[in-house]
Amino acid sequence: MTERSLGFDTLQIHAGARPDPATGARQTPIYQTTAYVFRDADHAAALFNLQEVGYIYSRLTNPTVAAFQERIAALEGGAGAVCTSSGHAAQIMALFPLMAPGRNVIASTRLYGGTVTQLTQTIRRFGWEARFVDFDDTDAIEAAADENTRAVFCESIANPGGYVTDIPAVAEVSKRLGVPLIVDNTSATPWLCRPFDHGADLVVHSTTKYLTGNGTATGGAVVDSGRFDWSASDKFPSLTEPEPAYHGLKFHETFGAMAFTFHGIAIGLRDLGMTMAPQTAFLGLLGTETLSLRMARHVENAQKVAAWLEADPRVEFVTYAGLPSSPYHDRARRLYPKGAGALFTFALKGGYESCVKLVDSVALFSHVANLGDTRSLIIHSASTTHRQLSPEQQEAAGAGANVLRLSIGIEDADDIIADLDQAMAKATV
Ligand SMILES: *Cc1c(COP(=O)(O)O)cnc(C)c1O
Repeated sequence: MTERSLGFDTLQIHAGARPDPATGARQTPIYQTTAYVFRDADHAAALFNLQEVGYIYSRLTNPTVAAFQERIAALEGGAGAVCTSSGHAAQIMALFPLMAPGRNVIASTRLYGGTVTQLTQTIRRFGWEARFVDFDDTDAIEAAADENTRAVFCESIANPGGYVTDIPAVAEVSKRLGVPLIVDNTSATPWLCRPFDHGADLVVHSTTKYLTGNGTATGGAVVDSGRFDWSASDKFPSLTEPEPAYHGLKFHETFGAMAFTFHGIAIGLRDLGMTMAPQTAFLGLLGTETLSLRMARHVENAQKVAAWLEADPRVEFVTYAGLPSSPYHDRARRLYPKGAGALFTFALKGGYESCVKLVDSVALFSHVANLGDTRSLIIHSASTTHRQLSPEQQEAAGAGANVLRLSIGIEDADDIIADLDQAMAKATV
């Protein structure tokens, strides 16, 4: 029986993991080692030439990290995955083989705030450019692209919540452009959405969030569908041209569907060094064992809390695609039939001061800049993550003065609602 034929709930526990060959340990051990003893000089040479797959040094490969990589790849339905030190590292690792000075990526305007900063500011130091477009207008994606475009980038369910990307429509455009579609699937997780089933080519994750699930370890992953034909054009020389550091090896020709993954390890991790620690991979493996159970509760609770908020006279609006009032409700039901995630915003009629009072009055909720925890989390973007922006920019980012972002946890929904109720009572007197 191949792993691909197993169901999601089985894969999230078993994919990538097997009893430890040395001890029989049932849970995947934390291989807390930096290096691995070669059998002999020939074995070492074969490993360094990429003629044999094995362990050399933990900047490149580690058995605990490899188990987590295999599990994430299986859950996403991909050919392979590379784990990284953070979600932001995964984004750089995904773009690195594709980009070069003068090349550009077309990105959705609706992204995690840190990603916007990474793409607008930091990647310019590499000579890369990001062009931002409203992804509801697929013609605009095509219009923004040119012969230097090398990727299209979006989130499946976008931060700060309420926006759902039409992945099949965007994938059609990226196919016409002859470049891969990269989807950040952090907020949806493969349980709610598998972007490869909708035409995406690469997936990135911040495993910091739902995959690990309880706010313990920062990590990321790049997953490759294995389906993009890197050799169809001369746009991706890193994957198709001879690689001098490996005696002229051509990644796509040699490794086929595993080309992007092997390049990510043999070049990306080797030289950029954004490596996941084995302890982080272990926590990620533990977390993913319960992913489907947690996500089911996350979306069930989010739906209840969003509906309760929308019906409350102290609330101006709620942006949750699970609500019929959302302009993205039909799209969410089509693409995410199990639920629209657990991340959304709502606006309080009281304005800025009331919002600040509310975050100071919550007891069960934690006031933190994180999401995807078992715990319910709240943040007032205008006074924290978005405080450097002008009121107009805050408004455009969906982070107006009276907007609060929630990441709904897996506690009792009644307790989550009761906490918001008492905090709102203190905030809106
Ligand atoms: C958190 C997050 C990131 C960044 O991940 P880190 O692990 O914090 O580096 C990227 N994208 C999304 C959607 C996120 O929520």
